[in-house]
Amino acid sequence: MNPFTYSRAADADQAVTAISSKPQGKLLGGGTNLIDLMKMGVETPNELVDINRLPLGQIEELPNKGLRIGALARNSDVAEHKLIKTRYPVLSEALLSGASPQLRNMATVGGNLLQRTRCYYFYDPAFPACNKRNPGSGCGALEGYNRMHAILGQSEQCIATHPSDMCVALAALDAIVSVRGPQGEREIKFADFHRLPGNTPERDTNLASDELIVAVDLPAMPLAARSHYLKVRDRASYAFALVSVAAALDLDSNKKINAVRLALGGVAHKPWRASAAEKELIGKTADEKAFRAAAEAELAAAKGYKHNSFKIELAKRAIVRALTMVAEMT
Ligand code: SF4
Repeated sequence: MNPFTYSRAADADQAVTAISSKPQGKLLGGGTNLIDLMKMGVETPNELVDINRLPLGQIEELPNKGLRIGALARNSDVAEHKLIKTRYPVLSEALLSGASPQLRNMATVGGNLLQRTRCYYFYDPAFPACNKRNPGSGCGALEGYNRMHAILGQSEQCIATHPSDMCVALAALDAIVSVRGPQGEREIKFADFHRLPGNTPERDTNLASDELIVAVDLPAMPLAARSHYLKVRDRASYAFALVSVAAALDLDSNKKINAVRLALGGVAHKPWRASAAEKELIGKTADEKAFRAAAEAELAAAKGYKHNSFKIELAKRAIVRALTMVAEMT
């Protein structure tokens, strides 16, 4: 591990100031991904600014009946919060499907947003070709082992996937990320927070290097009470998604779809909002035929590689299954 200095911020402004004046510095929350990356030599900050004492751990109801989740709220606390479980069960289920209880006790919401891909080539600094770790060096996964990699939104520069389960639920829930930088606070729509790789795969998000995530806001969304997170993975626990689906439905008494929220995980460089499928579903009767048509529409542009083409059909079936489960909820 590279040498680094350690300091502790007393408040948000101090954290922003510390990170602004040290471009090679990093903020330290739960550290469940960052410390691993530092041990591997993938991340090499020269300063860590510990933000764990900032008062950003609350989960509060907003006047508009939405919820504000502080950036330092631990994943386990969010997953078990009564209002999350009743109003946004898809978020609770997504969090509980990720990592282990010990990691969820440490991991923060802000850190979860900033998780980096688990692409094997990215994690091995001895491997020469990884545009995300070393821009311009190539992509080892394109012609290498790419079973876990992207089928939507990828580029010739990078076919990595985003690893978070929580973020798939937040994409479906139209969350807003509040951040603070040297110029004050700003809000970023969740759809705009993470990036597709394009020609700059080294950039995972649109967060500036001198900005601190303060909170994630969930809008009031009554249909989210009828929601589910389906995760398909190689083993039943402690594994990243091959494909996952966050789904919420609003049905009328004849099972006609009034509104739907759908997002996919494990398929793209960012949590993938399934807008084409949502459009296809509005006004249809909630049945397998409509769900399959929506899945076909969403995956129409999907592209597989040597080891991951199976994900295209898997994603379609996962969409159908998740929507069927939500439609059958009473
Ligand atoms: Fe690196 Fe992305 Fe290619 Fe993986 S898929 S080797 S992270 S450039």
